Amino acid sequence: METIYIIEDEPLLAEHLQQHLLNKGYEVIGTAATAEAAIIAIENSQPSLVFIDIILAGEMDGIEAGQIIHERFDIPIIFLTAHKDKHFFERAKLIPPCAYLLKPFNESELELTIEMAIFRYQMKKRMQAAMKVAEEASMAKSEFISHLNHELRTPLQAILGFGELLQLSDQSLFTPQQREYIKEVITAGKYMETLINEVLNLSSIEHKTSTANMEIISLDEVIPNCLNLIKPQINACTVEVTNQMAGGHGHLVQADKTRLMEVLINLLTNAIKYNRPQGHVIIDCSSAPGEPLRLTVTDTGIGINETDRARLFQPFVRFVSVNSNIKGTGLGLVINKRLMQMMGGDIGYDNNPDGGSCFWIELQQAPPV
Ligand code: ADP
Repeated sequence: METIYIIEDEPLLAEHLQQHLLNKGYEVIGTAATAEAAIIAIENSQPSLVFIDIILAGEMDGIEAGQIIHERFDIPIIFLTAHKDKHFFERAKLIPPCAYLLKPFNESELELTIEMAIFRYQMKKRMQAAMKVAEEASMAKSEFISHLNHELRTPLQAILGFGELLQLSDQSLFTPQQREYIKEVITAGKYMETLINEVLNLSSIEHKTSTANMEIISLDEVIPNCLNLIKPQINACTVEVTNQMAGGHGHLVQADKTRLMEVLINLLTNAIKYNRPQGHVIIDCSSAPGEPLRLTVTDTGIGINETDRARLFQPFVRFVSVNSNIKGTGLGLVINKRLMQMMGGDIGYDNNPDGGSCFWIELQQAPPV
């Protein structure tokens, strides 16, 4: 049975409310005229619900009392009020989940309000319990992943190390086919290393163990830096990469420099990887005052058809055949999406009308310094 405590400084009203509650089968375990007296009594009796009049005798008013009772004892509260005062509702909102009852009330209103208050309180408790379970599961998952990282990396280092030693050995000891096998072992090992790194990267972003270190970044600096880092890849292919913003356009954005470079490098390497011989990649940007800046990486490659586009930014989804020579893990775009969200930005895909893809990212602009 619900046990109820009443804080009301008008004896007649307290009596009246108590009678209604008894009629409805609730047990009233105490009444007090001041918040100070009630708090001591509630600490000892732990009722399942408290009625509090907004205006009370004593130092504290009903809302202050409600706040203390909520914080110390986490008991559902029903405020009693004579009029709809906006100021009261603003203050009462800070004590969730509370209910209120307008005086004068009848028994059915009273019963309904009690049921609602108890229901909302139970829902809050269930949500808190579910969140605790989810947090524990998430921590267990993080622990599992860091364990897995260690367990996988150690044998992998041995596979790669011995594979590379075989490559450094006298090659005349091996048949051409055996040399091919050694190459395969190393390629597969390196792929696995990339996969482990990307899974860990994604997991640390999703579990918020890594956060964005936001600062004002100049695109005039970041884009050439990215292009420098992927120079070997650009030189090894016939795709031409053009930076339309070369020469300094003075664009400043709010971002985490390392994370932004990670996103751009992924978009650029994809634009090269999924391009065609003698294809093009163009980096450009558009901005309007007060709007996020949009940076685009457009390519003339194989593009992504409409059905596949709906599955973009999902883990392990690749649109090339499993036998394709184009290597990848299917994690780059998901990581990009999480990173852009972490920086308060966005990422998306537009069709390149000339054939190919156009990936864009948006970031908040920083005011010129
Ligand atoms: P990965 O390149 O490692 O497979 P990503 O997450 O970066 O993983 O990309 C997911 C998939 O999206 C790729 O496998 C590819 O099929 C497609 N994709 C990404 N970028 C492009 C692009 N610029 N042009 C065509 N397809 C692309």
